[in-house]
Amino acid sequence: MRVHLVNPSDVSFGTAVITPRWLYVLAAATPASYGAPAIVDETLEPFDPNSVEPGDVVGIGIHTANALRGYEVGRLARERRATVVFGGIHATLYPDEAREHGAASTVVRGDGDIIWSSVLTDHAAGTLQPLYNGGRVEGEAFVAARWDLLPPGKYMWGSVQTIRGCPKHCSFCSVWRTDGQKPRQRGVDDVVREVVALRRKGFRFILLSDDNFYPVTLADLAAAKRRADKSQLERLEAIRAERFELMAELAQLPDDLVFYTQITMEAGEDPAFLDAMRNARIRGALVGIESVTPEGLKSVYKDFNHSGDALVTRLQAFGQHGVHVLGSFIFGLPTDRPDTFGATAALAQRAGVSFAQFVMLQPFPGTVDFAKWEKEPAAAEQVGSTPLSRYWLIPSSSRPKIYAPHPAMTADEIRRLTQATWDDFYRLDRIWKRSLGCVKSLRSRVAFVLISKLYRQMYANTGIATDSARVARSARRARVLAKLVRRLFVAKPMPDLQMPARGLIRDRPAVT
Ligand code: SF4
Repeated sequence: MRVHLVNPSDVSFGTAVITPRWLYVLAAATPASYGAPAIVDETLEPFDPNSVEPGDVVGIGIHTANALRGYEVGRLARERRATVVFGGIHATLYPDEAREHGAASTVVRGDGDIIWSSVLTDHAAGTLQPLYNGGRVEGEAFVAARWDLLPPGKYMWGSVQTIRGCPKHCSFCSVWRTDGQKPRQRGVDDVVREVVALRRKGFRFILLSDDNFYPVTLADLAAAKRRADKSQLERLEAIRAERFELMAELAQLPDDLVFYTQITMEAGEDPAFLDAMRNARIRGALVGIESVTPEGLKSVYKDFNHSGDALVTRLQAFGQHGVHVLGSFIFGLPTDRPDTFGATAALAQRAGVSFAQFVMLQPFPGTVDFAKWEKEPAAAEQVGSTPLSRYWLIPSSSRPKIYAPHPAMTADEIRRLTQATWDDFYRLDRIWKRSLGCVKSLRSRVAFVLISKLYRQMYANTGIATDSARVARSARRARVLAKLVRRLFVAKPMPDLQMPARGLIRDRPAVT
């Protein structure tokens, strides 16, 4: 019996930007007695059903966007008389759907780190349960990925998780509902050990693939200080202190390492935190800006963000501390109007963000927005026999792009203006100008241009376009570009790299 782990994708690029971490975490969680799992990442190459023998176990992780392809893989594996196990955010939300459409033998809800070995043990004993609940694993129990199983020459960036969960509650996001609002922080040594393992293999760009790298804000601390009961303050200070400890350790690693993470804008008000990020060489962060107007922010429950000039100041603070921002903006909020698009693009330029993504507001399962939209009459309309409220089950060739209904603009108008904003932001002359503010050498500037173009090909043209010929063309271009770009990101392996000695740097700023 062999274990297979499959990351489904409709599009294969041959080379991928970021290592899909869950595959290598579940590989590590697979008991040694089953041998090394066969890992298939369909963003590289499609799954081959002939690789599956009767009695094998095929684990498939799905989110909403790749659920339909995941179900197809599940059915193919079941036809080969394999035991099919679904997991991931989408299967957690819709376990019955995975059974009905994906021929799931069983479904795992929640984190797979610990429960996965029980699933395999039960399968071997012939006592497989129809449903497993992996729950929310605490930080110290997160399983380290088996990076020794990575195929050589396929990925540009490594990925290491340092924390799960987010204390916020944005209406378009499912993270706080699936991963919880209580931050679950991983031990510093565990994180650094994985970074060392990746650098040994030649990865020098590493994504800290966290829900929110900044779980405790200065405002949270000030509020906790005002309370008579100081236990909350102590808890928050301990979380913050561990963040600084982690960054101090990262700072001791080889200085060609570059980290990238995801963070809320509030970190821009915290110079001590930004300084620690700079020292740790966390050179970039995705910041969820979402909207440039106060009304827009309120509509997605994100009014802790700034707007207007204050927003520009916050974003510039990141740049002043050497942290380059990938600004994430949402279009199609109820308060948006046609002039919002230009105003957003102008603000992105003025604030000096290095990269930007412009996504259209889409109701994703597990979010507050989806729960509201699902009850509207429009969500009951059918394509074939599938209601729009289950849009991910409609074949992609006939699947309408589902966006939240807008009071003043049509979906087509929003899509056209969104695409135009991408086109304008990623104009070659603009990218070249932005590269000056980010990197110095010519080689680095060329890398900046290529990664900007690649990002746009992979995301804007394959994600927003409705025209399948355009999607296919973009995927082909991305395939060629990705191969070129990868060489710019990897470094000479350091097989003898050791863990840094602990305790050399322990400067923690006083909490203000
Ligand atoms: S969008 Fe970001 S800040 Fe908001 S809940 Fe999701 S992870 Fe947290």
